[in-house]
Amino acid sequence: MKLYEHAISETVEKIKTKEIKSCEVVQSILERIDNIDKKLNAFITVFHDESVDRAKYIDQKIKNGKPLGALAGVPIAIKDNICLKNKRTTCGSKMLENYCPPYSATVINKLLSEDAIIIGKTNMDEFSQGSSAETSYFGATRNPWNLDRVPGGTSGGSAAALAANETIGSIGSDTGGSVRQPASFCGVVALKPTYGRISRYGLIAYASSLDTIAPFGKTVKDCAILMQVLSGKDTKDSTSVDENVPEYEKLMGNSIKQMRIGLPSEYFSDGICPDVKEAVLKGVKVLESLGAVIEETSLPSLKYGIPAYYLTATSEVSSNLARYMGIHHSHRSKKTKDLIESFKTSRAEGFGPEVRRRIILGTYALSRGYYDQYYLKAQKVRTLIMNEYLNAFKKYDVLIGPVSPFPAFKLGEKINDPLQMYLSDIYTITINMAGIPAISIPCGLSSQGLPIGMQIIGKHFDEGKLLKIASVYEKNCNVSNIIPNI
Ligand code: GLN
Repeated sequence: MKLYEHAISETVEKIKTKEIKSCEVVQSILERIDNIDKKLNAFITVFHDESVDRAKYIDQKIKNGKPLGALAGVPIAIKDNICLKNKRTTCGSKMLENYCPPYSATVINKLLSEDAIIIGKTNMDEFSQGSSAETSYFGATRNPWNLDRVPGGTSGGSAAALAANETIGSIGSDTGGSVRQPASFCGVVALKPTYGRISRYGLIAYASSLDTIAPFGKTVKDCAILMQVLSGKDTKDSTSVDENVPEYEKLMGNSIKQMRIGLPSEYFSDGICPDVKEAVLKGVKVLESLGAVIEETSLPSLKYGIPAYYLTATSEVSSNLARYMGIHHSHRSKKTKDLIESFKTSRAEGFGPEVRRRIILGTYALSRGYYDQYYLKAQKVRTLIMNEYLNAFKKYDVLIGPVSPFPAFKLGEKINDPLQMYLSDIYTITINMAGIPAISIPCGLSSQGLPIGMQIIGKHFDEGKLLKIASVYEKNCNVSNIIPNI
């Protein structure tokens, strides 16, 4: 087995017991990136020299017998909307093409304090808006399972890099499905946490009331390790929550006997690809055979999810992206002379078509006379959706459904049809509206050999339970061991 093929847990173990050196792991990852990233375009920036220097520093620490962090010497790739001090953080946009933040996000500091190595910044849909990783100013990312297919979005770079063994672990963000859908398309694991579980300080905002930072892993255990490092209250983010962080790894692998699992019929209705339905139901059968109790249920308000989400998200976009007008840190047009014209032209030049569309939609939804009809209505629907989920959790430990109605689609297939693109988020966005956690784990391959993800959804702060069920499932099937041949 090559060093780049290992999971986080194995890599840390081998480094700590001096079986291998962090320098060797970093070297192996950098070579892998140099060899294949031309095909994938998963990275916007790779830190060659800095990673080697840091690996030497970690190796020296080991040699000197110094205490080591939970991620000692492990390369981690970071989505390019998470600020890294003095390094370009582009958000996949021309608007921030040359932006170097003067500070690092809390999650970066947490990773570094556990001795991780930030190997590079990954490609993404512009300002996290999209479902395919195609709207990036730096070009689309491709799916390592099939280069004609999208890796999913918006954290497509982080998912593709991990699936193709260009990193050992990775971090993304999820506002409406952006780690779960690419994890599902690329055959890796991702956990979208409860809103407020992980600090958003240093995450460039898309839709602040829905945004979360979230880990990817090759295994469920790796997601648990990253969750442990990233979770917790942060005084720099007033929406982070002071809630006890359990020891996630200890919860894993235990029996799931008598656990109550609900299958919402809305997650399996018209429009779902038969391969996806079959793979997820097969996954559910595995859990049933291990003692879980399965029952069908219904969440009738989910059908309002797409309009309510896209009104909420675009409204927040129109406000959050107002700051980019070419004055401080963003792209400034060279063509204009007066101030107002400079604002307009800089924004027109700096933002791509999808971001512009959303700013216009959101501005309209928030405008006087329409606010009550659109934004306020969407918020009422949001409460309805959240209450339906919370009611379901009175009866069930978790809910299970697919992540996406179909496996990875072809590049270019939906990019000119925004409505079709938005519809692909149908099973993920309501979870962000409710602020609850959900994990995406591989549960099989389609007839065309593309990965399919199963989504396990829990109540607020129940990440431990999701990791437990996912780990039991993973142990009893071999699907997460299949890797793409690139
Ligand atoms: N596809 C959804 C959107 O475009 C979700 C994106 C995300 O989670 N960042 O809004």
